[in-house]
Amino acid sequence: MSRIFLVGAGCGAGAISARGLSLLRRCDCVVYDDLLDESILGECPSDCEKIYVGKRSGAHSAEQGEINRILMACAEKHRLVVRLKGGDPYVFGRGGEEALALKDAGVPFAEIPASTSAIAAPAAAGIPVTHRGVARSFHVYTGHTRDGEMPDYALIARTEGTHIFLMARSRCGDICRGLIEGGMSEDTPCALVSEAGMPGERAVRGTLSALPESIADMPSPAVLVVGKTAGMDIRSTLPLAGVTVAVAGTGEYVGKVCTLLNEEGAFARPLAVAEVKALAFDAFFERMKEFSVLAFTSSNGVRIFFARAKEKKIDHRAFAKYKFAVVGKGTAETLAEFGFYADIIPSVHTAAGLAEKLRGMKGVAVLRAEGGNPALTEIGEEFLLYRLYYDDEKLRQCVYEAERADIIAFSSAQTVRGLLPLLSMERRPPLVCIGEETAKAIRAFGYTPVIAKDASAESLVKEIISCRD
Ligand code: SAH
Repeated sequence: MSRIFLVGAGCGAGAISARGLSLLRRCDCVVYDDLLDESILGECPSDCEKIYVGKRSGAHSAEQGEINRILMACAEKHRLVVRLKGGDPYVFGRGGEEALALKDAGVPFAEIPASTSAIAAPAAAGIPVTHRGVARSFHVYTGHTRDGEMPDYALIARTEGTHIFLMARSRCGDICRGLIEGGMSEDTPCALVSEAGMPGERAVRGTLSALPESIADMPSPAVLVVGKTAGMDIRSTLPLAGVTVAVAGTGEYVGKVCTLLNEEGAFARPLAVAEVKALAFDAFFERMKEFSVLAFTSSNGVRIFFARAKEKKIDHRAFAKYKFAVVGKGTAETLAEFGFYADIIPSVHTAAGLAEKLRGMKGVAVLRAEGGNPALTEIGEEFLLYRLYYDDEKLRQCVYEAERADIIAFSSAQTVRGLLPLLSMERRPPLVCIGEETAKAIRAFGYTPVIAKDASAESLVKEIISCRD
C-alpha cells in the first residue's frame, strides 16, 4: 500500500527532523519545491525519483491543483512518497491543502513537522520569539496575500508580543509604515532576516521607522520580526558562527571535517567534486604472491581494495605475510578498520615521503588512484584501484557552493585541480589545505594557501578557525 509523508525540511541545512530524514532516506519518490537546502536531496536513495514542483518548474505555486495531481500520480506509482517542504509544512506552505486532498482521495498520509522559519529565522539572528519579561506571546502573519488584503495593523499594534511576518521581503516598507500608522511606536525594534540557516544568512536590525531604508540589498526569502525581542542579540558565540566553509573532497575525512566544523558553529558544505569509480585490478590478486609490501595512498584505495578482495572471497589470512605501508594517519585508520595496522608511515605524509621510505625495498605493490604522483611509480609496481570521475552537473553545484563560501578547504591535490580552475574567486576566500602536495596544487593556480599543521581533521579545522581570527 502506497503512503505519502508531508515532511518539513526545517529552516536551513540539517534542520529536518530525525523522523523526516529516515523517511527521506528510504523513499521511492520525493516531490519538492523552493526554500529548502537542496543538498538534502543527496540523502535520498540514488534510484529515487525526484520531482521539482517549485517556481522554476513553471508549475506556479498558485497551481496547487497540479501539485495535488502529481502527488496522486506518485501515490499510484510508488510505495513511499515524501512531499518535502521548507520549514514546517503547515506554516504557510499549503501543506494543509495537500493533506486534505490526500485525505479526500483516500491516500494514507502523515505530516512530519519541522522548525519553521517563523521561529528559526529570528533565532538565527539572535532573537528569541518569546522571552521572560520581554514577550509572552508571538504571532505569525503573512506579509503577502493573493488578494492584496492588508493586515489589521491597528489590532497588531495593540497586541503584546513578538510579531513575525513571512513572505515579507517586498512588503517590508509597507508593513513597517502600516504598523506605525496603526499606533505602534516608530522606535519599536525590528529586524529583517534573510536566508536563515543557509550560507547567505544575513540580518539587518533597526526600528520601524529606519529599517526599510537599510534593506535594499537583502534577498528573499526573508522574515520580518517586530517587537521588543527584536532588540535582543543572543547570537551564537561559537568561533565559526554564521561562517560558510566549503570542504572539497570525498569520503569520511570530509564528513569528519564537516562534523567538527558544525560543532564550531559553521555552515559546513561538503563538496563532492569527484566521484570514486573502482577500476579493474584483479591482475594484482592473480600475482599477489610476487609482492611483500602493499602501499596505500588513500582511504578510498583501502576500501576499494578490500571490497574487491571480499567479492573475490579472498581469505584475509592471505594478507598475513605482507608489510603494509600508508601515506598518512587517515589511511592508516581506514586500514585498521580491516584489522591491519600499518607497518610503515612516513613522517612527511606525501607520496614523495612514502617513496623515500620505501626506496630500495623489494616487492612493493603500489595500490592507488589513477593519476597519482610519479614519485611512487618508480619504487614498485603500480595497480590502479580507482579513478576520480567528474560529473558536470555535480561540478556545477560545487562551483556554485564554493563561490558563495567564506572559506574553502581542500583535502587533496586532485580536488584542487578539479575545482579551483572553475572558480571565479572574486571574493578571494582563504584557501585552507592539508599537506604540501595540495598546497603546491593551489600555488600552481596563483593562490597562497593556508596549510594545516598535520593531516588530521582536527588540525584542518583549527587552521580554518585561525582564518577568522
Ligand atoms: N513553511 C515555511 C514557510 C513557507 S512561506 C516555514 O515554515 O518556514 C515562505 C516564506 O517563509 C518566505 O517568504 C520567508 O518569509 C520564509 N522563509 C522560508 N525559509 C526562510 C529562510 N531560510 N530564511 C528566511 N525566511 C524564510
